[in-house]
Amino acid sequence: MLTAIVGINWGDEGKGRMVDLLSSGYEVICRYQGGNNAGHTVINERGKFILNLLPSGILRPTTVNVMGNGMVIDPEHLVGEIGKLTDRGIEITPKNLKISEKAIVCMPYHRLQDVMEEERLADKKYGSTRRGIAPVYADKYMKKGIRMEDLLHPGTLKEKVCDIVAWKNITVTGYHHAPIDPEETLAWLEKFGGAIAPYITDVSAYLDEAMAEGKNILFEAQLGALRDIDFGIYPYTSSSTTLASYAPIGAGIPGARLDNTVGIMKAYSTCVGEGPFTAELFGEEAERLREAGGEYGAATGRPRRVGPFDIPASRYGVRMQGADCLALTKLDVLSYLEKIPVCVAYEIDGVRTTEFPTGDRLLRAKPVVEYREGFGEVSACRRYEDLPAAARDYIEYLEAAVGCPVRYISVGAGREEYIEKK
Ligand code: GDP
Ligand code: MG
Repeated sequence: MLTAIVGINWGDEGKGRMVDLLSSGYEVICRYQGGNNAGHTVINERGKFILNLLPSGILRPTTVNVMGNGMVIDPEHLVGEIGKLTDRGIEITPKNLKISEKAIVCMPYHRLQDVMEEERLADKKYGSTRRGIAPVYADKYMKKGIRMEDLLHPGTLKEKVCDIVAWKNITVTGYHHAPIDPEETLAWLEKFGGAIAPYITDVSAYLDEAMAEGKNILFEAQLGALRDIDFGIYPYTSSSTTLASYAPIGAGIPGARLDNTVGIMKAYSTCVGEGPFTAELFGEEAERLREAGGEYGAATGRPRRVGPFDIPASRYGVRMQGADCLALTKLDVLSYLEKIPVCVAYEIDGVRTTEFPTGDRLLRAKPVVEYREGFGEVSACRRYEDLPAAARDYIEYLEAAVGCPVRYISVGAGREEYIEKK
């Protein structure tokens, strides 16, 4: 069984929380795109964990965790993340963590380039997290990337690094920054690359074997459909493919077909960073929702922009992900509202539409907001029939609006705080 767990919205839908819950039936968990530019928060009986690079399955002692070829990995960050978890008693060994030899190394000069570019843009920022993600993906496609496998061959690595650093210095000095020293770069690689070298392996062969043995494999996305490099709100997107159909490619089994795609959809909207966010709330209304939902970035601590559930955006997200079913998260957060705003359509140049637009049309879209009845407390409910009628009405309304059934409803951050809708 091959399942993908993916985001329907702008990210931070609670994917980490749902992977932590649903991973119990899976022997292998794979991350297939992105780097440490986003964060998953997982709260279970072992405590609260924030993961940027490691698959959420790392918190289950029996699962094997894969970091696929579609990822960009900063070894320094990874060493820090592994250290924080091992300090808290989580065992991480080459048996339960496998890094693809084909994954790309995110280098200190990628971070530098990211920072220099955001500074150059001054007030026209694209909301980069300054972790070097866009520059490292750009270099991957320029074929100037350093792959994990290079770390295992110091001789050829040295030559490669010297060539690439010389090329990178054309860019760096263009920003009026001092050139990068290849020796320093090599020392950094030796230190942090050396620490993760034992985990680097032929992930593709491993996954092939795992499939032949009939193991269940789960793919975990970072960010949501609206941040996909092709289908998202370009250029305010991530630099990778966040969609489910890319999961087998980015993990290392391009020939495989998914059996099941679970879309994680939030009961309201949040968005980190810049870009069009049509139904955005402001002022006191936004403040209350942000407080109620604890909407501050897991990777950056930045306050998240918030808004009501957005039907055009979520319906588009469901379609792009090809979701078979949905997990609706953070329903409990809306308990304080007497009436719940929902963005039911956009108005563009006076014309109402429920299709999600791109480019300039998206920038001109205005939200059409309607209200649903509030439902009060739901956090203690564990069966669908326990939910107040107005809460069931809200869920069934959203199902119909986005055209996909809701299978799970999350009513709290803890592992057991959810309802399965049969
Ligand atoms: P991800 O990036 O999609 O994994 O999501 P994040 O971890 O960045 O953001 C989701 C936040 O909401 C985390 O702090 C979770 O602990 C929390 N969370 C997840 N599901 C629920 C829920 O149903 N109710 C509440 N109140 N919090 C939740
Ligand atoms: Mg997140």
